[in-house]
This record gives sequence, structure tokens and C-alpha cells, in this order.
Amino acid sequence: MKTYHTHQRTSLLSFLKENSDKAFTIEEIIASLSEPISQSTVYRLMQKLVEENLVHRTVKGNSRSFVYQYISDEKCENHLHMKCTDCGKVYHLDSGVTSIIQNNIKSNTSFEIDSHTVLLGKCGDCK
Ligand SMILES: [Zn+2]
Ligand SMILES: [Zn+2]
Repeated sequence: MKTYHTHQRTSLLSFLKENSDKAFTIEEIIASLSEPISQSTVYRLMQKLVEENLVHRTVKGNSRSFVYQYISDEKCENHLHMKCTDCGKVYHLDSGVTSIIQNNIKSNTSFEIDSHTVLLGKCGDCK
């Protein structure tokens, strides 16, 4: 059972990794894959990847559809993220900017911001 869907999982994951600066709906993922994978399989695999914290899932704007984006890298431990509430895309904040923000808030309030904090707002494309 362990190797079940491993191949599909690998191609799904590598596609998301290569496009980690974008967020996709399930339909877009299926359309972009080089090999056909059934929708139910993609749903199931994405569910797993979300549970494993490899993929970030957000609601797209006011719609009911979800968008998925590859997010987990060791690199992501050290910076804050910004999430667009319209398109659901997650942006990685530069670690330099992150420490400026963290240090500023810390010296003003002695509050230490967790680096997993996600700032919400609107991205340049959605403004
Ligand atoms: Zn990141
Ligand atoms: Zn946006």
C-alpha cells in the first residue's frame, strides 16, 4: 500500500515544486501535468501533501475553490509569508525584511513574532 500512487505523487510534487511561485486549482494542476492523472487521485494526493505540510491550501477569493501551492522548504523556516486573500497565492518575504520586521516589533513591544506567521493582504496582481 505504501508504494501506491508513488509515481503520481512524485510527478505532482515536482510540478508544484517547479512552480512554487504560483498557486493552482485542482483543475489547473491536472491540465498542467505531463501525464494524465484522474481528478480523484489528484484530490487524494493533494490532501496528503497538505497534511504533510508540503503544500499550502487556501480558498481562492470569494469562490469555493481551493488553490494549492508548494511551500515547504527548509528555507521557509526563516522568513514570514504573505498571503493574497484574493488569488490565494503565498509570497515568501525576504529573510532580511523578516528580521527587520521581527526586530522592530520585538524592540517596541518585546513581542516575538513566530516565523510561521502569515500576513494577509492583496498582491500586486489583484490590487
Ligand atoms: Zn517561504
Ligand atoms: Zn493576488
